[in-house]
Amino acid sequence: MVIATQLRTETLPQVVWPRVQARLKQEFGDAIYASWLAPLQLERVEGNQIIMAVPTRFIREWILANYFETLKHFWKEDDATVYSWDIMVRERTAERVDNDNRAATAITTLESTVITDDVGLGGTTTLDPRFTFDNFVVGKPNELAYAAARAVADSTRILPGSNPLFLYGGVGLGKTHLMHAIAWEIAQKTPERKVVYLSAEKFMYQFIRALRHNDIMLFKEQFRSVDVLMIDDVQFICGKDSTQEEFFHTFNALIDQNRQVVISCDRSPSDLDGMEERVRSRLGWGLVADIHSTSYELRLGILQAKVEQLKTPCFVPKEVIEFLALKITSNVRELEGALNKVVAHSTLVGREITLESTQDILRDLLRSSERMITIDEIQRRVAEHYNVRVADMSSARRMRTIARPRQIAMYLCKMLTSRSLLEIGKGFGGKDHTTVMHGIKRVEQLMKEDIEMADDVTLLTRILQN
Ligand code: ADP
Ligand code: MG
Repeated sequence: MVIATQLRTETLPQVVWPRVQARLKQEFGDAIYASWLAPLQLERVEGNQIIMAVPTRFIREWILANYFETLKHFWKEDDATVYSWDIMVRERTAERVDNDNRAATAITTLESTVITDDVGLGGTTTLDPRFTFDNFVVGKPNELAYAAARAVADSTRILPGSNPLFLYGGVGLGKTHLMHAIAWEIAQKTPERKVVYLSAEKFMYQFIRALRHNDIMLFKEQFRSVDVLMIDDVQFICGKDSTQEEFFHTFNALIDQNRQVVISCDRSPSDLDGMEERVRSRLGWGLVADIHSTSYELRLGILQAKVEQLKTPCFVPKEVIEFLALKITSNVRELEGALNKVVAHSTLVGREITLESTQDILRDLLRSSERMITIDEIQRRVAEHYNVRVADMSSARRMRTIARPRQIAMYLCKMLTSRSLLEIGKGFGGKDHTTVMHGIKRVEQLMKEDIEMADDVTLLTRILQN
């Protein structure tokens, strides 16, 4: 009897959970544990279902995507009872609402801290409400930067090796978005932390103004009491010697006082010409996170998210999304711009969005950014890939091993060039446009059913775009 109870106690979820937690900590390390797994709590047990809870939808998603399998595995190893697990987002409690209110106040203070007086700079630094972690689409090219930003926002102490956090990447890839997201997150969760976000340009402007008004003490004071200082586009102060010097002092002082500093830049610390060597090397001391240019998959994800967030809901066909993701490769800002243009146009003229109308609306944009891919080139690459003769692209042979690559080539011509169906048909030995249309439709259909084929098409697209 006693033994039985003991056994039961040992495998009570309340007892197992701390053991699983300990293993998770060991498995993923303290930093990840503190940012992601510590908020996860055992909520209740219903029959054989274990219900856990986290404070935000985002953390839930992240845990499900990254740590959930391991969690279940550890649990099963500890206790073989057949359980199912679920993670819920905890209801907003009075305390939470209160926090939100405080968050709102904190943002106001944050703004007034950042913007003491902006004469001459035009406008104030307000945080863009769209630039939150929830609205940031994560993929391979930006996952490190994202995770780092998230960690800085979520942990109240400085994570070892992460100070300063140096985010760098080309224009329009999400640096400012991530910095605003950090500020929003902190304002929400730990409003007692004081955050200052400003562009390097504004930093310089304030510094010069302080010099002119003999307010340097005040200027320094203002930054000294900050918990998290974020300076955007730091490349701006390259070569501006006195600002650079002041920035360096502020920066050093904050780091020495164990305050978090986040910097963004369009290039890596070592590429900052015109920045003194000691500043450059110090900038690279912490965590340097590179945001790579977008991948096709990430662009797809971003477009899908943006479509869902449209103010006036609007149906954007899948092939249009794919087309945009294929064509607008420069950066996310341009990608968003192209989508908005297409949506605005269709709303204006009251017609639905089609691939045709999209190509039409974006013609100029595409022409200027397009490296001209020719029908010949596409045929050559596709023939090579499927090991058929280039001549067969124009032949009338109907064997599947030849007809299929030919259809894929037609599809790629439609997607990657601005040629009409008629012109494409001509390039394929004078086929008429309905044959081309049929081929393209067939490929679209097959890509849905056949993963291997979809992969082939993606691969060929990549090869052709390089
Ligand atoms: P940067 O500061 O690097 O030049 P921004 O942060 O201003 O770029 O981003 C440009 C635009 O692209 C913004 O509207 C931003 O919301 C959007 N954006 C960039 N990356 C992402 C992403 N991963 N998910 C969603 N939107 C993004
Ligand atoms: Mg920016």
